Amino acid sequence: MKIAFIGLGNMGAPMAQNLVRAGHQVAGFDTAARPEGLTLADSAAAAAADADVVIAMLPNGDILRAVAAEVIPAMKPGAVFCDCSTVDVDSARAVADQARAAGLDALDAPVSGGVGGARAGTLTFMVGGPEGAFAAVKPLFDIMGRKAVHCGASGAGQAAKICNNMILGVTMIATCEAFALADKLGLDRQKMFDVVSTSSGSSWSMNNYCPAPGVGPESPADNGYKPGFAAELMLKDLNLAQAAAASAGADTPMGALARQLYRQFVEDEDGRGRDFSAMLPRFVEKNR
Ligand code: NAD
Repeated sequence: MKIAFIGLGNMGAPMAQNLVRAGHQVAGFDTAARPEGLTLADSAAAAAADADVVIAMLPNGDILRAVAAEVIPAMKPGAVFCDCSTVDVDSARAVADQARAAGLDALDAPVSGGVGGARAGTLTFMVGGPEGAFAAVKPLFDIMGRKAVHCGASGAGQAAKICNNMILGVTMIATCEAFALADKLGLDRQKMFDVVSTSSGSSWSMNNYCPAPGVGPESPADNGYKPGFAAELMLKDLNLAQAAAASAGADTPMGALARQLYRQFVEDEDGRGRDFSAMLPRFVEKNR
């Protein structure tokens, strides 16, 4: 397959490299990054002109809209525009409408699994858009990832992503504040992990990404809270969840509080550039 890959940052570059390794012809474009092992085009439109599938992996919805406006008119009939960035549901739907108006299909296909998953080809894709386009791009999802779920119509992939990450933000905060409370109560952190990870308080945050150093499987906590998944990216996703909740008229008080705490952590405290699990030392500091 001929593929255009727009946005070759921390996630996009390894995803594109995995497609090349699998034998696909990939034309990449990025306004700044020049990763090894990829053929680069002079513009997004030039990369897209000949492609069967155009994949985007960009920072936010505004940039996605700008790139889509340039790329969609350049795409050949029958090609699919597949956005893997995490963006707001409204931008995903606007891009899908624009593609449809040009006689093309678009997918929103955000991912879970982080940079490690992008490198290893073990991402999970959550996908919104037409069934036929999902089937056409599925072989590429299978190279870049381990699982691809067709979630529904356009925007459903982004909806799944922000709901998942809202749960993640809330459970990480709950896990961190519980560890900090356990400290105050004199409970050993390893004992806390041993009990909770096999009890009803367990979650991915506790079991797979434990925020306490030296406890549970290896995680950013064991590496000085170097990201991993940066607190500011969690804040971005919690902002998207709150924007979606406001636009849909949904009541999300826990998501709102998680957003407020991550905003405070990133903007007023020392959270910027730290892993999102560094909420634990933050609570410990508050409890001093
Ligand atoms: P990144 O900042 O490393 O990469 C984004 C790339 O887009 C940069 O190289 C930038 O130069 C490029 N870019 C910006 N404007 C452009 C334009 N107009 N045309 C072409 N390229 C342009 O970010 P990332 O970590 O790769 O994340 C990309 C997306 O994936 C984001 O939406 C993020 O929320 C999502 N995501 C990231 C992770 C993670 O762990 N990093 C996990 C899941 C999802």
